[in-house]
Amino acid sequence: MKITDSARPTAQPHITVMVPAYNEEKNIASTLQNIGSVLQKMSPHWDIVVVDDGSRDQTAQVVQTLIDIHHVTLVRFSRNFGKENAISAGLGFAKGDLVICMDADGQHASELMFTMLEKWREGYDMVYAVRQDREQESSFKLWGSRLFYRMMSSSSHIDIPRDAGDFRLMDRKVVDALCALPERNRFMKGIYAWVGYKSIGIPYTPLPRLHGESAYSKLKLIALAWTGITSFSVLPLRLASLTGVVLALIAFAYGAVVVIDALFFHESIPGWPTMIAGMMFFAGVQLLFIGVLGEYLARVYDEVKGRPPYIVAEVVEPLTFKPEAAV
Ligand code: UDP
Ligand code: MG
Repeated sequence: MKITDSARPTAQPHITVMVPAYNEEKNIASTLQNIGSVLQKMSPHWDIVVVDDGSRDQTAQVVQTLIDIHHVTLVRFSRNFGKENAISAGLGFAKGDLVICMDADGQHASELMFTMLEKWREGYDMVYAVRQDREQESSFKLWGSRLFYRMMSSSSHIDIPRDAGDFRLMDRKVVDALCALPERNRFMKGIYAWVGYKSIGIPYTPLPRLHGESAYSKLKLIALAWTGITSFSVLPLRLASLTGVVLALIAFAYGAVVVIDALFFHESIPGWPTMIAGMMFFAGVQLLFIGVLGEYLARVYDEVKGRPPYIVAEVVEPLTFKPEAAV
């Protein structure tokens, strides 16, 4: 049953926490334990969806042993499809009136869910956690993220909140809107902002990872940022056109100078190095921007192929607990 806005302050919504997990065998048990103990205090109706994103370790086996204890639905991918796709899948399997997305590595404190629920009761449809510790991060991440948000805000029509990740609470209507989007290239940060709804950020400081290392290397982060930029803005294409126009104007002016010089001053022009340098420069710029066009074409190609963004190999549900029955 749908919860009306006026019923929110007293409602007991069914809460689904959705956890994407990739090689988290050492973290997943305590993360689920934490989530379960907080959820118990929040509502009588809750469950957890774990999306095992093709882990190569024992993550799925560990989760299987906890399915009945923590009301877990385990969704296993056929291979690693990436966190963005794991979240998309998890949202599809989440049945709650509210869905909260949380990492499996213990970096997202479960206690923040209380504040998220409070904000939802106040009438917000999406409550996202905004990280506060950016100053302590490596200069690569700090400057990289600054550049990213600047490019996004100046070039796309949607406003992506700074330093907000996937740790967030979403009302059922937001989840339905997200699930209805047909695009395969899923850049979640952009998609959350694109669907809109009444949203608010709450501050949090991520905890240290329990075990293991982040799956996001510098290269992966750059690739993700590039996906974001090319999925949500046409800035690189605009830059290509702008550079083309500026260079064409310069070339035209230079050509005019050469012609005037030859016609009126009859000076012999040695000009060989200038010509080569000019040729190289223009060829370089052209190649660069053909590359940019290629990137967009690749995205169109991906969408046109119509392949699913992920493949679910197996779904394991709790025997003793059916989420629908609890609502
Ligand atoms: N993750 C995933 N698929 C991947 C990489 C990561 O589902 O290909 C999950 C991972 O298990 C964790 C979350 O996404 O729950 C965040 O990943 P990680 O901690 O590696 O990234 P960071 O905290 O540095 O953003
Ligand atoms: Mg992490």
